[in-house]
Amino acid sequence: MKTTVASIQGSRQRLFINGEFVAPKNGTYIASYDPTTGHPWYEFADAEADDVGAAVAAARAAFCNPSWRRMTQTDRGALVRRLAELVGANADILAEIETRDNGKLLKESRAQMRSMPDSYHYFAGMADKLQGDTIPINRLDTLNLNLREPLGVVGMITPWNSPLMLLTGTLAPCLAIGNTVVIKPSEHASASTLALAELIHEAGFPAGVVNVVTGTGKSAGEALTRHPGVSKYVFTGSTATGRRIAGNAAQNLVPCSMELGGKSPHVVFGDVEIEHAVNGVVSGVFAAAGQTCVAGSRCFVEASIYDRFIDALVERTRRIQVGLPTIDDTDIGPLALADQLKKVEGYVASGLRDGARIAVGGRRLEREGLARGGWYFEPTVMVEAQNDMGFMRDEIFGPVVGVMPFCDEAEMIALANDSTYGLASGIWTKDIDRALRFANQIEAGTVWVNTYRSASFMSANGGFKESGYGRRGGFEVMHEFSRLKNVIIDYSGAMQDPFVIRLK
Ligand code: NDP
Repeated sequence: MKTTVASIQGSRQRLFINGEFVAPKNGTYIASYDPTTGHPWYEFADAEADDVGAAVAAARAAFCNPSWRRMTQTDRGALVRRLAELVGANADILAEIETRDNGKLLKESRAQMRSMPDSYHYFAGMADKLQGDTIPINRLDTLNLNLREPLGVVGMITPWNSPLMLLTGTLAPCLAIGNTVVIKPSEHASASTLALAELIHEAGFPAGVVNVVTGTGKSAGEALTRHPGVSKYVFTGSTATGRRIAGNAAQNLVPCSMELGGKSPHVVFGDVEIEHAVNGVVSGVFAAAGQTCVAGSRCFVEASIYDRFIDALVERTRRIQVGLPTIDDTDIGPLALADQLKKVEGYVASGLRDGARIAVGGRRLEREGLARGGWYFEPTVMVEAQNDMGFMRDEIFGPVVGVMPFCDEAEMIALANDSTYGLASGIWTKDIDRALRFANQIEAGTVWVNTYRSASFMSANGGFKESGYGRRGGFEVMHEFSRLKNVIIDYSGAMQDPFVIRLK
């Protein structure tokens, strides 16, 4: 791969359409900002409807092109494996690019990029395992088949928090099945997706199989989600934008897979080692500066240990190192966008107005060693929270946790489920019966017991309620990106008189 942070710095990044990097038709570019300084560091193409139309046309042509359509499953799997190898070989460069764009810790970006080849390999192995069924039909000399086939062009709209990792869980199965793809990355972090396009080209995917249109949600995003040539959308982002995209897609009767916001409950019972549970809660909400959809941002603690737990949580939070994302000792980097910083400040202020109290943190961080203007925020614990306060109901997407006590299991379940969201959940207890009752009653797509944020591409992840629908990961995803075709074959060799109806 030729692309590096140095080659992107100060450059104009073009669109990737039909196997080539091309300038946008309107000739316009937008600045992308470095979260550690708040200054622009490169420009990306501001695609409009014409460019999106060209990308969808290229993807449609590629879908029908025999070089892709008639490629054997084994060969398709081999191509995805080749991409896995290239991603692995360039993992550290991809990590540096993404961290520069979204401020995620370099060590976390590296871990994500180095694990991505496993995911590509997993789905590459499924290219020749997706199969249909032979089913009964109640007629003699007749075969009734359900065939599995690719959908066509899949439109993928990705967010800025973990662009490549979130893309992998859907791009890899889409390619393994034989779909073609148009990706619209977030305007706040497009660089790593464009670098991946270079690797896709290098791997030898036919032109048009994968296309990347950068630009704004309002322009490129809207054009993609209204385009009649797309057969399915995958979206990760806010619930509000998800609703809008689902509305656009509905006009063309196109299905979507939506991974949206969360306000995940993290429950701690009195029978646990407090230190372990504190580590779980801290990593659950403060990792990636809280900018993860599964952040455990509502923490419910059994009243019997509440005071001791808060003391330990505050003490642990004080020791978190906020700093430059490229330094190994840093635990939390900056927020990715200036707007995120304002949003987080706004929710802390609204929590205070509603009667919650800051136990630790609560302010924008400006200190020696960090560039003025960087978007840093202190990890924040808010106590005396109530579940109906605004900051406990809305997704903050920042390093802020609200904590409140509960008295018994029934109260805890009612509080945990009292949310419009249903993405993830966590419980700390040594009582297995209690953990299983929680897993059974909680309205969330993921349940973690005595751990948090551990995930696998081998299992299906996704949300309940306003956290979305559709799943990422596991074999199920192969069904999300393929469709069934029913084929009925009469091999009697004698077509019956069509007007003779045999009644029972
Ligand atoms: P959005 O949901 O608005 O953006 C996510 C993606 O959707 C981006 O690629 C964005 O493009 C695109 N988009 C925006 N509007 C449209 C549209 N009308 N049609 C098609 N695509 C569109 O999130 P934001 O970046 O604005 O962040 C706001 C909040 O969303 C965060 O504070 C957080 O709460 C939540 N969020 C949740 C994520 C998750 O993982 N579940 C990830 C990111 C955000 P562009 O960036 O160019 O506008």
